[in-house]
Amino acid sequence: MTMKAVVLADWNELRVEEVEQPVPGPGEILVKVTACGLCGTDLKMVQGRFQERGWPPSLPFVMGHEWTGTVVEIGPDVTRTDLQVGDQVAAENHIGCRECSNCRTGRYNLCISSARSEFKLYGHTAPGALAEYAARPAVMFHKISDSIGPLAGALVNQGSLTVHAMRRVGLAPGSTAAVFGPGLLGLMSTANAKALGAARVIIVGRGSRLSIAAEMGADEIVDYEAQDPVEAIRDLTGGLGVDYVFECAGNPSVIPQALASTKRGGKVALLGLTGGSTIPISPDKLTLDEIDLLGVRSSPNAYPAMIRLMETGAVDVSPLMHHIYPMERVGEALDALESRQAIRPIVAI
Ligand SMILES: [Zn+2]
Ligand SMILES: [Zn+2]
Repeated sequence: MTMKAVVLADWNELRVEEVEQPVPGPGEILVKVTACGLCGTDLKMVQGRFQERGWPPSLPFVMGHEWTGTVVEIGPDVTRTDLQVGDQVAAENHIGCRECSNCRTGRYNLCISSARSEFKLYGHTAPGALAEYAARPAVMFHKISDSIGPLAGALVNQGSLTVHAMRRVGLAPGSTAAVFGPGLLGLMSTANAKALGAARVIIVGRGSRLSIAAEMGADEIVDYEAQDPVEAIRDLTGGLGVDYVFECAGNPSVIPQALASTKRGGKVALLGLTGGSTIPISPDKLTLDEIDLLGVRSSPNAYPAMIRLMETGAVDVSPLMHHIYPMERVGEALDALESRQAIRPIVAI
């Protein structure tokens, strides 16, 4: 049996092709994919900019790692009893080895064995889900209710990363936060911070995305093309700075700005990758002001919380659902991402 899939046939060459339909192996579940988002990592993979990381390990390669779908077959030896055929699910892409010291303490995003080939990172080192069907170990799936919808479930993946960011900083009720970068991570961070009780969220960016930031709950908007973001944040906080900064721009020049915008005793979370760049920072500033600088990677144990936030409407993702494409127009979807027209293009399958 074959299925349609979006295949990276050569660098910068995505094609919709017939490929072999996966069969669920022992412990696996087969899902009919309903939607898959495209992100900056996909774009860089298509351009061949992650070749040295082995993303993808070889060509041709089925893309896609931010996805949702409906269970169509439970494979042999699946021990989970809470998933049935017909359930809508969102999928994690990596669940670690479950044996190393980090996995055993719940930090499977930092699995010590993750580089070993048997621990797949689906959509990066193993085939993705930009296809009609995907099979994965049952443990990777999380059930989502119909209220989320067959397309918006594709946003659970990145939303969960921002839940992990909120946990990393330990966001307190009534606090203040600044978010640099109004892309999907920045907008989901904004919505999550508000849902968790931040009194005031300031978003820093430029262009049309800033209007969506207001829809996602931002209280104050700073256009860095019109004003200095550090001065603006200081002005808005009576000169103190914010309790938390979420750096979602992936821009190294933002990091000194983030530190300068943080209140003494505050925390800075880095959600964006900068492509291997380095940046001078003042260690004395961290020491004398006791600023915590925190890396945030992936979304360990965060899917269930994100799903509940979306199901209850505490986080409303409808302002983000404006760029939906059929599989045949995946090239257009990627162009919309590259040109910044779309915050998150979603391929409906
Ligand atoms: Zn992604
Ligand atoms: Zn591990």
